[in-house]
Amino acid sequence: MPTGRTVVRDAAVLTADPANTVHQHGTLVIEDGRLAEVRPSEPDDGGQPADTVIHGRGKLALPGLVNAHTHLEMTGVQGAFSDLSTLRLGMEATALFRRSEAYAELARAGWALGLVNMLTSGITLFNSMDRDPRPGADAVAESGMRAVMGPMLADLMLPEPVEAQVAQAEEFVAAYHGSADGRVRAAVATQGDLWCTGELWRAAAALARRHPEARVHTHVLETGQSQAMARSQGYASSVELLEELGLLDERTMVAHFVNARAADVRRVAAAGASVLHCPTGLAYYGTGERAWPPMRALAEHGVAVGLGLDDPYWIDSWDLFREAKQARVMANHHFGAPQLDSDRLVRMLTIDGARALGLGDEVGSLEPGKQADVVLADIDHPRFEPYTNLPALAVNALTADRVESVLVEGRVLVSGGRVQTLDKGAARDDLRRTAHEIAEKTGWHLGPASAIPPRITGTIRRSAGPLLGIAARVATQTTRERLRRGPGADT
Ligand SMILES: [Zn+2]
Repeated sequence: MPTGRTVVRDAAVLTADPANTVHQHGTLVIEDGRLAEVRPSEPDDGGQPADTVIHGRGKLALPGLVNAHTHLEMTGVQGAFSDLSTLRLGMEATALFRRSEAYAELARAGWALGLVNMLTSGITLFNSMDRDPRPGADAVAESGMRAVMGPMLADLMLPEPVEAQVAQAEEFVAAYHGSADGRVRAAVATQGDLWCTGELWRAAAALARRHPEARVHTHVLETGQSQAMARSQGYASSVELLEELGLLDERTMVAHFVNARAADVRRVAAAGASVLHCPTGLAYYGTGERAWPPMRALAEHGVAVGLGLDDPYWIDSWDLFREAKQARVMANHHFGAPQLDSDRLVRMLTIDGARALGLGDEVGSLEPGKQADVVLADIDHPRFEPYTNLPALAVNALTADRVESVLVEGRVLVSGGRVQTLDKGAARDDLRRTAHEIAEKTGWHLGPASAIPPRITGTIRRSAGPLLGIAARVATQTTRERLRRGPGADT
């Protein structure tokens, strides 16, 4: 979309270019959606002809943030799951998934507010996996953002048969890949090694072969049980499952990758695949084990690692800056990773996230020739003084509510903190009304002081089948392996 000539004057600029160049007083010149100049400000910048001038004094300009792994259609449950145990959360989510009609209504109402929340937080590109991304892709087109999207494939969790799930995914790829002037890309999105049978994996691999234009998105090694599930399908490991099915190459985006071993990292790196790290999501719910992605090995092997919010409505945060800080402190706390420096964290928020999604040549850094996806945040506040080490301030001190302006392809989508392309009020009213209607139908009590889930008996009835099915497969596989190793082998 041609936007003429826009000049951003006198902002502090984090470019995320290969040298991590920072301009204390910088100017961006944008021509027809692309960055034409990114450089230190000059005295005569004020006299340059421009259709739009954005005054950047007291602002930090950085590339649009990339939410590299997320789910969005349950935006309406924000607050409801926040205080549930991990087990109860899994049960309630599964039970909701299996109330197809109520879920579809909740999902439909979630998209617009999810996009508003991301845009106003400085996120210009996201990679999502949801049951029905079609209304989301339509909303992305309207919003002006970018997205990689794919319908979730998970036969151990969703009620639809494999054939129907794959047919829906194929329709999505055919209808939406390259839509919204190329801003929407499609992915073949299996829920992952814990949630799918061999039948679904093989069908997803065939789908990915038929559509080489689509990316491949999946959760891998999300929990301690994931590897056992992959082995129960006859593969030596989760990574080998992907490899043998032809699902591990430069299109592949692996979310979480917790407890991955050195050999797993080498294979992912050799394939050119990427890893999507969601530190708050991983740390929020206890899995009963101390586990973290191998950040040191991933860096040593040059794997592109992006940061994601995962389920923003379960952790009640849409702030990707906080994910960078969380990635830093959690790596330092217990998990043996090297300290993550600020430049690397800025890159994970921007260019490395874009590379992880296969869009690193187009967006992710402020360099001439790239699409003008730019965030301007207000740093005219004493907490940022005296402006020493701006990359550190961006990941340690900046929060999403300081974001003032957001441009995608040079088009202003957020101005003065307000979204220009979507009706925030209508989206909010629709979500509020729908969330309370669904709560009534499903037995939830949602109030300002608490969220009380429905009676456990109804939840068990709906969720026990899939969850027990997965637990039984893991238990059978673990027992089989223990017997094969012989008595005393564990000690
Ligand atoms: Zn996820």
